[in-house]
Amino acid sequence: MPDVLVLVDHDGKRVRRTTHELLAAARRLGDPAAVVVGTPGTAARLREDLARHGATSVYAAESPEADRFLATPAVDALELAAGDASPAAVLVSATTEGREVAGRLAARLDAGLLIDVSGVDPSGVVTQVVFGGSYTVRAQVTHGMPVMALRPGSFEPQERPELPEERQLALPPVDPAASARVTARRAAPGGDRPALTEADVVVSGGRGVGGADGFKVVEELADALGGAVGASRAAVDAGYYPHQYQVGQTGKSVSPQLYIALGISGAIQHLAGMQTSKTIVAVNKDPEAPILGLADFGVVGDLFAVAPVLTQEMAARRAGR
Ligand code: FAD
Repeated sequence: MPDVLVLVDHDGKRVRRTTHELLAAARRLGDPAAVVVGTPGTAARLREDLARHGATSVYAAESPEADRFLATPAVDALELAAGDASPAAVLVSATTEGREVAGRLAARLDAGLLIDVSGVDPSGVVTQVVFGGSYTVRAQVTHGMPVMALRPGSFEPQERPELPEERQLALPPVDPAASARVTARRAAPGGDRPALTEADVVVSGGRGVGGADGFKVVEELADALGGAVGASRAAVDAGYYPHQYQVGQTGKSVSPQLYIALGISGAIQHLAGMQTSKTIVAVNKDPEAPILGLADFGVVGDLFAVAPVLTQEMAARRAGR
């Protein structure tokens, strides 16, 4: 089987769930070869987790400056690994940085680029969400090696233990004048909640929440469900919630098991970021709101009356009532 390169998403200590999803998808095309880009020692820390999720080889692309630049070290590492392995495809997560890595790598390798992939056939044909979510198409790269950015939440992680072969990549020094440099790192606010793109449950609030204080209702329901909090662009633009939680065409793409939309009308740009969620629940006081046409379960009502009842019910069930 040919290798399929998988760029590992990690925080230095832990492999993110999005990588487990990539490894499961890579298995359909060949042997998953995980590429770890980080400071020295990172690959050794992540190896056991990657092996458990099916990596048949692990590339260590390590250098003391690997976490000081955005995207460039990952593009360099994938280019080197592609030269080494002649892979059938390269897979990255369709996060903000992943998309940039995918685009730059495809340009460097003169490869075909597929963004927002939500399904992969063993033949290499993929399902893709395009034009801001207006269409779902089937596509295949016909020239060069495919570089694919996979939508978080679209693939189920699988445990499939392997004994991965270790391979080293010597990262070249990064030219600071031609690359975005990391100047500071701050923990994102959000406490113990799961990351938006990794959560099984996302509870999002829109303009209907009415203000920053109103988001307490959204957070309480998310916490009762062990989920992440999201927001519409209108809510973000109005300053109700920070920008990094925006879901949609110009925000994050999510595909959780359960998406709950509170006070969100369902504009196409919002749907673009969440319409592949497995089950969608919407609470809106307007029976004509477009989101109710997409939702699996719609509640016509005031979110401030409905959401607290859901929160209470979930808390009671968790406590085993
Ligand atoms: P509104 O459309 O104002 O809807 C608020 C809803 O809340 C209404 O349906 C109302 O009935 C309901 N409501 C009010 N009070 C209550 C209550 N008490 N209880 C229950 N329901 C209540 N939007 C995104 O979300 N993400 C994006 O990434 C994004 N990208 C964009 C990119 C471009 C280029 C453009 C042009 C737009 C983009 N937008 C995006 C904006 C998008 O078009 C909408 O304006 C936005 O999604 C609307 O947000 P909303 O649903 O929260 O607000």
